[in-house]
Amino acid sequence: MQSDMTAKNLTAGYNGNPVFQNFELKIPSGKITTLIGANGSGKSTILKTLARLLTPSEGVVYLDGESIHRMPTKAVAQKLAMLPQGAQTPAGITVRDLAEYGRYPYRTRLSGLTAKDDEIVRWALESTNMLALADREIDQLSGGQRQRAWIAMALAQKTGILFLDEPTTYLDISHQLEILQLLRRLNVQQNVTVVMVLHDLNHAIMFSDYLVTIKDGKKYLEGTPEEVITPHMLREVFDVEAEVVRHPVLRVPVCLPYGVRGQPFVKNMKEV
Ligand code: ADP
Repeated sequence: MQSDMTAKNLTAGYNGNPVFQNFELKIPSGKITTLIGANGSGKSTILKTLARLLTPSEGVVYLDGESIHRMPTKAVAQKLAMLPQGAQTPAGITVRDLAEYGRYPYRTRLSGLTAKDDEIVRWALESTNMLALADREIDQLSGGQRQRAWIAMALAQKTGILFLDEPTTYLDISHQLEILQLLRRLNVQQNVTVVMVLHDLNHAIMFSDYLVTIKDGKKYLEGTPEEVITPHMLREVFDVEAEVVRHPVLRVPVCLPYGVRGQPFVKNMKEV
């Protein structure tokens, strides 16, 4: 089920204005890769282009050796799933309905859900701990439950790659960790390649094998969290002054920002 993805010489943007140009990236198969960078640096646009929601003006995204923008929609949807930022559902649809949408790429025009589809939908609901809430309407769920329902839909798609744009936005800390742990579990147990955008740097470090830092539409640095997370990178990419220490339990780097670039935090605001 594992898929390989490589972007070559990619340029994309909106209304003829490129957000990024000549972008190159190889997604590590079977790993969790996270794009990090300041607001407006182009992370979502890159993710959308990789997931075929946006057509590049130049360059190619190869999925298992084929140009993704030349593949039929259903063929792509059998290989990758994308959870856009703040995805909305039509009113009245239930968790099960949403998960069943995930089987759409496998259906022919007239066929309903097969027994195998039902089995996969059940598995997706179970994996995301949503079985008990299957008949609940999406509108009646908490933010964390809603996000799990969307992940169930993506899982029902049975793809090798899962893209998520800020999957933890608006969730409290425990629900953020719950979603990220779920993604790690799917990555380890199902060998799903995960590519996401996260805002929280320390979560990105904790849950990613590979980080890609984006600055002004360009790749600034990529590598393991140990390789990428330095005070210098944080100053250049995020415009913050920060210390990088070691997490006492997890033994991964932790960022401790103490002010914006060139302006370390002053405790007594009268001194500012
Ligand atoms: P990030 O995800 O890093 O915050 P985005 O990819 O969303 O960055 O945005 C990159 C740039 O593209 C920004 O200047 C933003 O204003 C612009 N942009 C994003 N979406 C659209 C859109 N739908 N139409 C026009 N410009 C857009």
